[in-house]
Amino acid sequence: MNSAAIYPPLAAPAANMFGNVPGYEGTMAGGGGYLPPPMPVEPVAPPQPGPTPEDWSIPSLSEDVAREAFKSFVNSNCCYSSGPADDGVITSMEPFNTYRYRLETFTESRSTEWAHKPHEGEPPDFYTQTAPRPWEIPATPPSLFTSHTEEIRVPYTSSIKECHTCHATGTMQCETCHGSGYEKDCWVCHGSGTNNDERCNRCDAKGRDRCTACNAHGSKECETCEGKKQLLTYINLKVEWTNNVEDDVVEQNSGLKLGDLSSVSGKELFKNSQYLLYPLIGFPNPAISQASERLVREHQSKYAQNSRILQQRQKVELIPITKVNYKWKGDSHVYYVFGNENQVSADDYPATCCCVIL
Ligand SMILES: [Zn+2]
Ligand SMILES: [Zn+2]
Ligand SMILES: [Zn+2]
Repeated sequence: MNSAAIYPPLAAPAANMFGNVPGYEGTMAGGGGYLPPPMPVEPVAPPQPGPTPEDWSIPSLSEDVAREAFKSFVNSNCCYSSGPADDGVITSMEPFNTYRYRLETFTESRSTEWAHKPHEGEPPDFYTQTAPRPWEIPATPPSLFTSHTEEIRVPYTSSIKECHTCHATGTMQCETCHGSGYEKDCWVCHGSGTNNDERCNRCDAKGRDRCTACNAHGSKECETCEGKKQLLTYINLKVEWTNNVEDDVVEQNSGLKLGDLSSVSGKELFKNSQYLLYPLIGFPNPAISQASERLVREHQSKYAQNSRILQQRQKVELIPITKVNYKWKGDSHVYYVFGNENQVSADDYPATCCCVIL
């Protein structure tokens, strides 16, 4: 059981004693900074061929599909009445399909801090051997592009010290009753211990209520050492695997907000993955090549500073967007159907009722 608590540097003479663990000189009680990986970034891979254009068109949406998507959208909104979806007449449908470039950079970073846990008999191993450096400690990554955190006790850094919270007594004063074992005055006798000249039964004539936090003991097991009186202090290595995802969506002027697109998928046109990606070259839409060039460069310089890049993946999707113009009760309105999921957005829906006010 790793309490992973952090003890204050001033109350931790042991930390000074270990200040010279080779490879851990900068490790502070309370958490050190991120450790830069020792290896330089390797040169980028040779240029990859651009994607081969296949059939990149998306079959245009039929009116029936658009209407069905609109109806289920309206049904899922309790305060939209279904009139416009049932009786609206589609006047035109315009495609505004657009491209989305997505870059994922899967990184591993490592940081160290002094930590302690209740001592449960573990033999201290400080200086029995040289402690491995942070990036020498084996840690198995999760599957690629999956974020995960792991904490590892660095071997040969542990020692035993007395618990600073309870001064090695294993107990601490109950905060609720300040050690008295009793809490507030009894509400029946108001602290007198007697009720109508007889001893108060409720509080057993004590006049006060037993402290429930400590069961009237006045003390509790020390939370820091869990009653063990001693702590095992050691350097804790935190290994964090992070999938850093960034999107770039090519501008489209349909009127649909870009943020709406983050929840849908599109038709996958291209995808590749390698240790360090080379930007996509020769994509038919130059905005995508530019986004790839920029994001790959940014990610490789940003994430190589404080972490180790394990793998990168890039993907281009064509996201279907259809702007549907329709008439209801003589007025013109608009909704959008987008993504493989046929999601709908209708900011100007003309028949919202007031049931949202509860
Ligand atoms: Zn108490
Ligand atoms: Zn009483
Ligand atoms: Zn303690």
